[in-house]
Amino acid sequence: MSVAIESVSKQYPNGVRALTEVSVTIEVGMFGLLGPNGAGKTTLLKTIATLIAPTSGRVTVMGHDVVIKPQKVRRYLGYLPQEFGLYQQLTGWEFLDYVGCLKSLKRRRQAATEALEAVGLIDVARRRVSTYSGGMKQRLGIAQALLGSPPVLIVDEPTVGLDPAERIRFRNLLAQLAKDRVVILSTHIVGDIERSCDTVGVLRAGRLIFCDCPQRLTQKSQGHVWEVPSDSLVHDGRLEQWQIVSTQHRVDGLTLRVISEQKPHAQALSVESTLEDAYMYLLGGVL
Ligand code: ADP
Repeated sequence: MSVAIESVSKQYPNGVRALTEVSVTIEVGMFGLLGPNGAGKTTLLKTIATLIAPTSGRVTVMGHDVVIKPQKVRRYLGYLPQEFGLYQQLTGWEFLDYVGCLKSLKRRRQAATEALEAVGLIDVARRRVSTYSGGMKQRLGIAQALLGSPPVLIVDEPTVGLDPAERIRFRNLLAQLAKDRVVILSTHIVGDIERSCDTVGVLRAGRLIFCDCPQRLTQKSQGHVWEVPSDSLVHDGRLEQWQIVSTQHRVDGLTLRVISEQKPHAQALSVESTLEDAYMYLLGGVL
């Protein structure tokens, strides 16, 4: 059970090069695809989902080439796109029945029940979608992707617009589903992948600049993260050259969290690196 991406590049007709020589094999578990807006995440996911063809390179899903055998690949895939439209007047149940029709599923009723149970919506299945919260709508999105229980699930930026409790619940649901299938989750929010992903891939300007477990990513910036009290920086010209990750309010004033190869200031204290620091470190191109 795997998705293999081999030297994939994609250039759009307008000349934009969205992906350059991306290679990675994704196995059962949760794969977090992290990168800033415009990095190429959606382009990569759409390529896996057979919606766009790579300019060069090859993608296979369960051994089938996405360009040569798109129909076959689609049978193995569930896909929740970034912009996902729901028919507000339908009930959750009717919506899944409709998607089941589009997918030509044989046992639609049973498939819909299983998917609604998996995402915890079975009790509200007879309510109209218009009455669902943001988190419930996202879970219904996952339910339609899960119809027919495909071994590969692709989810593009799922937590945009969800409140913190909904985000955690959604993340846990995906982690649960990733126990026996491939789940590929794209996001620009580090917190979305921090605890739930087995592997993290970081895309920057179309290139996969990191691919390993989250712990290895955190190690990347170990020894390069500092906290500096901001009152020591008045009239300090170096401030503009620093990569500042955050500004924190403390009882004794403002403290800057800074990424720097060397100790940036006499009063700077070395602190433990987090995944977010490491991500910023990678994107800053300091490596
Ligand atoms: P992300 O999902 O990481 O935000 P995208 O894959 O959407 O990144 O976009 C990568 C790059 O490709 C961006 O520069 C974007 O403007 C460009 N792009 C995306 N879709 C198209 C398209 N259909 N035609 C031309 N350029 C596109």
